[in-house]
Amino acid sequence: ESTLYVVATPIGNLGDMTPRAVEVLQQVDVIAAEDTRHSKKLMSHFGISTPMVPCHDHNERQQTTNLVARLAKGESVALVSDAGTPLISDPGYFLVREVREAGYRVVPVLGACALIAALSVSGLATDRFYFEGFLPAKPSGRRKKLQALSGLTSTWAVYESTHRILDSLADFKEVLGADRYVVMARELTKTFETVLAGTVAEVENILKEDSNQCRGEFVVLVEGNKEERETTVDPQTARLLERLIEELP
Ligand code: SAM
Repeated sequence: ESTLYVVATPIGNLGDMTPRAVEVLQQVDVIAAEDTRHSKKLMSHFGISTPMVPCHDHNERQQTTNLVARLAKGESVALVSDAGTPLISDPGYFLVREVREAGYRVVPVLGACALIAALSVSGLATDRFYFEGFLPAKPSGRRKKLQALSGLTSTWAVYESTHRILDSLADFKEVLGADRYVVMARELTKTFETVLAGTVAEVENILKEDSNQCRGEFVVLVEGNKEERETTVDPQTARLLERLIEELP
């Protein structure tokens, strides 16, 4: 019925596939997948035989035209990415925008997201947070970005891959300082799930000493800048506050 379902899939543990996701994927007319070969395994595991079409960074515009035409015929479409929630550091933004603008419903089918999972076990402040996605691959760009993030007073998060985790941590140390508190969530929901918390220097040491700790997929969460958070009071207000404190019983 002319609906685009944006369907989250597991980030490792197949037990995180929701019954609703299975049902929707079975019932739609077509599944748009970031990588059809990759998603085929998931689909066959759950007995889903719905036809799939590819929809990734390199063909999203073209595929959007095709999918909007199918919605116009009254068909329903599901969007999945390789893992987790589509559009969260994954393709789909253009498709969702166009489908809504064409007047069709876009419905989220909730499930795993590495960012939210990591935040939920981090023990960091989560009342506000900032998500940067992947940092630039080149060191100079990465350091510049870290510089820009270093003053944020809220918790912030980046996605990182096994190839760059040590290089990134070295840049964290240089730009944010060795003592900034970080939480590193690795291989969430998988066999080697590990959550390390400590200063940048401490976490870096653990990874340097054990190359197994450098394997897999990471979410790095960084505590907000505490110095920036301490609000500086102008001298006049400070004097007034001092006087008020003196007057207090
Ligand atoms: N859409 C996904 C989501 O909802 O989390 C993210 C896709 S993004 C292309 C892949 C990145 O997400 C990985 O490089 C890693 O930073 C993070 N990630 C995905 N699965 C993870 C897991 N099981 N544990 C930790 N991080 C994970």
